[in-house]
Amino acid sequence: MLKYGRTYNFSAGPAMMPEEVLEEIAAEVMNYHGSGMSVMEMSHRSKVYQQIRDEAEADLRTLMNIPDNYKVLFVQGGGTVQFAMVPMNLMKNGKACYIETGAWSKKAIAEAKKYGEVVISASSADKNFSYIPDCSALDIPADADYVYICENETINGTTFFQLPDTKGKLLVSDQSSMFLSRPCDVSRYGLIWAGVQKNVGPAGMAVVIIREDLLRDDLPAFVPTYMNYKVHADNDSLYNTPNCWAIYCCGKVFKYLLRNGGLEAQAKRNEEKAKLLYDFLDKSEFFTGAVRKEDRSLMNVPFVSPSPAQDAEVVAASKAAGFDNLKGHKSVGGLRASIYNAMPREGVEALVNFLRKYEKEHA
Ligand SMILES: *Cc1c(COP(=O)(O)O)cnc(C)c1O
Repeated sequence: MLKYGRTYNFSAGPAMMPEEVLEEIAAEVMNYHGSGMSVMEMSHRSKVYQQIRDEAEADLRTLMNIPDNYKVLFVQGGGTVQFAMVPMNLMKNGKACYIETGAWSKKAIAEAKKYGEVVISASSADKNFSYIPDCSALDIPADADYVYICENETINGTTFFQLPDTKGKLLVSDQSSMFLSRPCDVSRYGLIWAGVQKNVGPAGMAVVIIREDLLRDDLPAFVPTYMNYKVHADNDSLYNTPNCWAIYCCGKVFKYLLRNGGLEAQAKRNEEKAKLLYDFLDKSEFFTGAVRKEDRSLMNVPFVSPSPAQDAEVVAASKAAGFDNLKGHKSVGGLRASIYNAMPREGVEALVNFLRKYEKEHA
């Protein structure tokens, strides 16, 4: 059982945050470190806030071992703004390759088409996005500006365990629903972005990690000032009032991960949690996982019971048993358990016990 009457919340996002991080935030909400005010109330130009921001960036750099030639940006607008910012900033030749693996890459593709030509280099649409297509021999046009992936499809429950061979082109990755869930070799990417409300903090902000040479002074005039990565980089993400609160909360989570063994240790915990659930689904004769085994996400686990009507009954029973947000996304149905970094192992164990009991009683 969780403290404070909190529930095991399997939401795909916004999602659970570590209990001890929430406790720290609660303790500091009236008076942050003797400043006489909460972080919500302080000037983003103040010394005390500057330190919060600087430590957040420094801790993220340590966690991900981010090379010096990459900038870390905190940009408002969450994930969806990045669908536009990426093509606006990186399409020099007006052409980019996208790998279509599900709902979020489709959104990115639709947005990029407003700014240039999109080549779908690989797709798993033929099997309802239940797998990651082979990306070892992609046909990439010589004038393509970048290759884009959604590294973990939150709705469809797939993950790239192997990055595509981009034939030397820039790799751009939406890591929203897997950010900080495992070690990441940043140097293999031109740009990584992540909406933070899946695996880190409150909604409304994205972390962008961009290689310095991709920052441009020569963007087309139509690009709004705020949508230019270089504006954020030149101003340490303080061009305008940033999402101070989200940066503060994310910074707390970065510190939490650092003192708990970093991303290696977190990856191990995530693998163990996911294995509990997948092992159960593999043995179950009532519930079935929706994704090809080798591409299964460690963060988002979609599964079905024998019928949509029974899916709804399981969801209702899970609610009555004290679990929340197990309903699958409306576009795919079924059930989905999102088990991000902050979902305790006990939460997954409790869910598996519940599902096992349900199967016994209803199969
Ligand atoms: C949630 C999500 C987004 C969109 O994020 P918003 O902050 O709601 O705009 C984009 N990509 C992925 C993979 C997501 O999970």
